[in-house]
Amino acid sequence: MVYYIIVTGGVISGLGKGITTASIGKILQFHGYEVTAIKIDPYINFDAGTLRPTEHGEVWVTEDGGEIDQDLGHYERFLDKNIPKSHNITTGQVYYAVIEKERRGEYLGKTVQPIPHITDEIKERIRKVARKEKVDFVLVEIGGTVGDYENILFLEAVRQMKLEGEKVIFVHVTYVPSPSTLGEQKTKPTQHSVKLLREIGIQPDFIIARSEKPLDKIRREKIALFCNVHEEDVISDQDLENIYEVPILFEEQGLSRKILEKLGLEKRECRMQEWKRFVEEVKSFSEPVKIGIVGKYFDIGSCKLSDSYISVIEAIKHAAWANRLKPEIAWIDSKTFEKCPEKLKELSDLDGVIVPGGFGLTGIEGKIRAIKYCREHNIPFLGLCLGMQLAVVEFARNVCNLKDANSVEIDENTPHPVVSFIPEQAKILHESRYGATMRLGAYPARLKRGTLVYRLYGKDIVYERHRHRYEVNPDYVDVLEKGGIVFSGKSLDGLLMEFMELPDHKFFVATQAHPEFKSRPMKPSPLFDGLIKAARR
Ligand code: GLN
Repeated sequence: MVYYIIVTGGVISGLGKGITTASIGKILQFHGYEVTAIKIDPYINFDAGTLRPTEHGEVWVTEDGGEIDQDLGHYERFLDKNIPKSHNITTGQVYYAVIEKERRGEYLGKTVQPIPHITDEIKERIRKVARKEKVDFVLVEIGGTVGDYENILFLEAVRQMKLEGEKVIFVHVTYVPSPSTLGEQKTKPTQHSVKLLREIGIQPDFIIARSEKPLDKIRREKIALFCNVHEEDVISDQDLENIYEVPILFEEQGLSRKILEKLGLEKRECRMQEWKRFVEEVKSFSEPVKIGIVGKYFDIGSCKLSDSYISVIEAIKHAAWANRLKPEIAWIDSKTFEKCPEKLKELSDLDGVIVPGGFGLTGIEGKIRAIKYCREHNIPFLGLCLGMQLAVVEFARNVCNLKDANSVEIDENTPHPVVSFIPEQAKILHESRYGATMRLGAYPARLKRGTLVYRLYGKDIVYERHRHRYEVNPDYVDVLEKGGIVFSGKSLDGLLMEFMELPDHKFFVATQAHPEFKSRPMKPSPLFDGLIKAARR
């Protein structure tokens, strides 16, 4: 028997529904239940591959090569398990599948309609995950907020699931603001949001109230009365310093016990000691480690958004905590170094620098300057994907004297295409990945014994996730190696350069992959761990 927990949102977006969903999964795991999670994104895009990071946050890459909403990253980090791409359902995928079926004549002359054909497709996709995963619980987070036009069919589908006899628990995550002019928590937006949900035919079992401060008794009573739930089923979810504390906050309010009771499931011993100890310890770390992320996806209107690099940020935190340090992250827009090169000096105030992944032309020269500065000033440096490509470009130009060396992504006519599109690679990708030209998902690399990267991983073959089109050009490997680069990991056929390092540097490591996607609390990524150890003052 599989149980579904459907998580919907109300009032505003950006409430941290992903973290809430992951945390509910975590507390069920504490009780020995097997769980997995699905994210529904109501947009028409087939997946998140083409979304702009400043608009939608980071694109998460799954082990099996899905380009997905960042919430799957929260699920993986909290639940400590790989979540495949089939766990992300978008409107685009659903309609695409239904239209394909219609073209194949599978609907036998029927009028194909949103209800029941689209809703049936949605239900089938959710149930397929349940069948395949053999878990006790499938959590389904529905993106957007109740009242949006675009998620109405998903809400209708999960409403039907309950009617059809599935064991379903509905959790509604809302926002309880405290306007500064009033100084008290206001529940009206929650009441309206639940009213909308009930109009659709869904009565929430639990209301999780996001707020600045803990929900007080009066608001709890009010929400209970107006939203038709028991007072004890209103859960306070106030702002916390550390997202990994959320499962503990829920557990302390008895959420897992209440879920299990409603479903008539046995209560088991709660094993959250290790997680609790970890969260408590983190609070006590006071020695700082300051890591700069030199990126470009920060600007959105007049505010700065760090969501575009969420996995990099989480990976820094995991590694810092594993070394009993307090992470301090500086966001540095690489364009700054193009306008004012004198600002490069400020990199010396950092303990380590990361140049993360990216696409397109803006900010590239600024990143290259930052990498040069780190190389020349012995500042611990970690390059991720584009970060590695640019480290190679910088090295080619300034150490190997290859004037105007570049990646062909940035300059098609460069005299020295040290990072390039490899035709053989394009062919392989074309054949294996249905026409795609991006290397996506986990690929193996063989590490070179005796290198720093080998020491950090402690094994010969490692799998990290990829999302890129360009590679270090094999024609230039010799000259780069002669200059002093050590390619410490290559693809199994030896053709693709997967890891590099500079042996005479305190820590200068880069990878064509995105190791940040595999970092988890209490299990930091080896490369981030290496960076933090080198960065420790
Ligand atoms: N734009 C580069 C490529 O496609 C790097 C991509 C990335 O950093 N993820 O190869």
